[in-house]
Amino acid sequence: MKNKICPICGGNKIEMETSFTVDFQTGVVVIRNVPATICSQCGEEWLSNEVTEKLENIVSEAKKQKLEIYIKKFQDYSLAS
Ligand SMILES: [Zn+2]
Repeated sequence: MKNKICPICGGNKIEMETSFTVDFQTGVVVIRNVPATICSQCGEEWLSNEVTEKLENIVSEAKKQKLEIYIKKFQDYSLAS
């Protein structure tokens, strides 16, 4: 069983989608519909290792393209293996 209690405030953690934004010198990356576990009380977010890794890949891809604004849906991005 997964622990559904927030270690910070004791609230309930729920699975939902969130947006992930990274602001760096040359632009902004927004990744939408990112699966996350979020506390319904304090809003703290937890991402799985797999999700974090994929986000890092999307961000480095965005930096390579040198776009000022880069918006992607999480599920539209597949990793080149
Ligand atoms: Zn909490």
